[in-house]
Amino acid sequence: MIVDKESIVPNSLAVPSMASFVARTRSKAEVVEADNFANKEGLPLIVIGEGTNIVPHDYVKAVVATLDFNGITKAGAQFKIMAGEKWDDAVKISVENNLSGIESLSGIPGKAGAAPIQNIGAYGSEISDCLENVEVYDRTKKEFIILNKKECQFRYRDSLFKKYPENFIIISVNLKLSKEKPKMPKYKDVEEYFNKKNNSTPNLKGIREAIIEIRKNKLPDPNIIPNAGSYFTNPLLGKKEALYIKNKFPEILLFPLENKTKIPAGWLIEKTGLKGAKIGKIEISPGNALVLANPNRAGFEEIMYAENFIIKKVFQKFGITLEREPRII
Ligand code: NAP
Repeated sequence: MIVDKESIVPNSLAVPSMASFVARTRSKAEVVEADNFANKEGLPLIVIGEGTNIVPHDYVKAVVATLDFNGITKAGAQFKIMAGEKWDDAVKISVENNLSGIESLSGIPGKAGAAPIQNIGAYGSEISDCLENVEVYDRTKKEFIILNKKECQFRYRDSLFKKYPENFIIISVNLKLSKEKPKMPKYKDVEEYFNKKNNSTPNLKGIREAIIEIRKNKLPDPNIIPNAGSYFTNPLLGKKEALYIKNKFPEILLFPLENKTKIPAGWLIEKTGLKGAKIGKIEISPGNALVLANPNRAGFEEIMYAENFIIKKVFQKFGITLEREPRII
């Protein structure tokens, strides 16, 4: 394990942030070492992937650890990805091997180990659709265990790991992909892309290329304009609440989900007139109102100010309280 004292916390939102310690683990044994080190120092252990879905404080009093072990093992349609592998590299390899299941999750930044935490999803697919199990280090039991899909308690952008971020360190993700033809994502942007190309039965490679192209046009590249992807989750409303909102705002976009009704958070923000606006140093992305950009590398407090400002504006207009997607550390 490599440990740096008072070191920079990597984060795609470019918050200038330091942690008491930053530890790089290169094996399962070093994960245990990092856990013991944090206990010895009397500090919390916070595991991050590439920092693409976090909002760090300016100073994080903790041991922040990254998992730097990667690799993919393929056996038939079984696809095991080590936590430190870049998620999109894994998607690329699955497509090259003619295995379908995660092609719609192309272009998502971050590491594979982070993918089950918020049950990453895009264009109608979620990692839980094809996940069989994950290997974790259980910090409460001090042992490596396998959790099957049911035990992971996956929901829409949610899981056991999101509920108990302190308890589990994800070591590897085991997927069961398919050798069948891929299904076309039923999302407007994807359908329009293939309509233009007069192609109603795209292959895996075609779907991956489409998703990457669509994302590129709509989402700022965090390597160029710092951001943490979607900043808010899509609210899920009960039937009564959804009906009330629909009566008041008939043009609202609603999607049924898990016996609830999903409302696009980006749409709500756009309707407050904030798309493309600046709140202090923070910009609401002109291409996607769900993305907050931090081009001037503002600190934690400024991000919180912008977050609260947006939550207040959306609440004043719709009576709906948005919730942050990235994790504060
Ligand atoms: P979009 O296509 O403009 O759609 C806006 C919202 O409406 C999305 O959040 C989506 O929900 C929902 N929606 C649209 N068509 C739908 C359908 N046919 N069935 C069910 N729900 C539908 O969204 P976008 O912002 O360009 O993002 C495209 C996809 O990439 C979305 O799935 C989004 O979640 C995903 N994405 C995720 C992140 C992240 O950081 N988590 C960042 C960027 C994009 P869903 O979000 O539930 O799909």
